Amino acid sequence: MNLHEYQGKEILAGFGVAVQKGLVANNSDEAVAAAEKLTAETGTSWHVIKAQIHAGGRGKGGGVKLAKSLDEVKSISEKIIGMQLITPQTPPEGKKVNKVLVAEDVYYPGDSEPKEFYVSVLLNRSTGNNMIMYSTEGGMDIEAVAEKTPELIFTEEIDPAYGLRAFQARNVAFNLGLSGVAFKEMVKFITALYNAYVGADASLFEINPVLKTSDDKIIAVDAKVTLDDNALYRHTDYAELRDLSEENPTEVEAREVGLNYVALDGNVGCMVNGAGLAMATMDLIKQSGGSPANFLDVGGTADAARVETAFRLILKDPNVAAILVNIFGGIVRCDRVAQGIVDAYKNMGDAINVPIIVRLQGTNADIAKKLIDDSGLNVMSATAFEEAAQKVQEAL
Ligand code: GDP
Ligand code: MN
Repeated sequence: MNLHEYQGKEILAGFGVAVQKGLVANNSDEAVAAAEKLTAETGTSWHVIKAQIHAGGRGKGGGVKLAKSLDEVKSISEKIIGMQLITPQTPPEGKKVNKVLVAEDVYYPGDSEPKEFYVSVLLNRSTGNNMIMYSTEGGMDIEAVAEKTPELIFTEEIDPAYGLRAFQARNVAFNLGLSGVAFKEMVKFITALYNAYVGADASLFEINPVLKTSDDKIIAVDAKVTLDDNALYRHTDYAELRDLSEENPTEVEAREVGLNYVALDGNVGCMVNGAGLAMATMDLIKQSGGSPANFLDVGGTADAARVETAFRLILKDPNVAAILVNIFGGIVRCDRVAQGIVDAYKNMGDAINVPIIVRLQGTNADIAKKLIDDSGLNVMSATAFEEAAQKVQEAL
């Protein structure tokens, strides 16, 4: 689950990470009230107005603006709320902004040396460790830094069994070229950030930029956070952080009915039971020259109602030109699944407007094949895996 910047910063602050203070606002009146409140709290009369969408690069797209007065807070937030913000990380049509974060300006006027660093904590899937990735080149595209000057990106691998060790936090501060108070503040910052990452069961905390002010404060100015969905049951209070308007509507619907669905950009819809078989099916589609439109694990109970729900979800994607059903009948019998497919098809009528290729293997596969072949519907049966993929290609 991805979070908005303001939500990520709230979690960080809860773990003692120094963050740029801010308040979220749904309209320009709320933004002005937020700015007044922040001024009373922090003393600063300048604010940054930051669009809250699930995408980075907002600054480049005009979604982060400095306001030097309450009038500017009002006019800028009026402009940003409701805008369709296009950044290098949004879809081409951009994303609609529903909220802004009104934040204290932490870049002091006259600060000749505000220094921006990049710091992230993430899971390194190839080593099975947590990892702190950091760079002196903050504030810009880290992908560009990685491409042009990879020597400026450092990493600390953290064995989750030991946790972050003191020397590792000092390594970060040292490699970022800090000394004195700033060094100590960075060690504190990194330690608290790592605690937040572990404590919140996150899989990513990306802070870009981490700001060092001229008076040696170390502050998180941005926060891109991904929480591990599988650990959300341990944080019931995080459930309300989910912003459904930022998620793929079909994925949201699938989650509600208990189906594992992930949207992809190909044209072959997949209905499979078991995650492993689903992965193998997508590989096979690719190998035979196609491209999967989705990952869909219908799980153990492929009855008519469930098959119908799955068909309807798959067909919401306008790119789908054929559907491959690949089910292994172990616990669930193939003939039951076949009957489910036939019933769902008859029930849906014209709603099914693409060819369907069905491969059923396992218990009662022969009865299932006969059921499909005798149904008189636009459904092709296949026995072998490759044969099924081949038929999909021919049907496209
Ligand atoms: P992103 O573009 O989506 O990554 O959004 P960020 O939160 O990183 O903000 C983009 C840029 O806005 C930062 O790199 C800063 O240069 C600038 N910015 C953020 N906060 C402040 C602030 O308090 N004052 C000023 N002057 N600039 C800021
Ligand atoms: Mn940023």
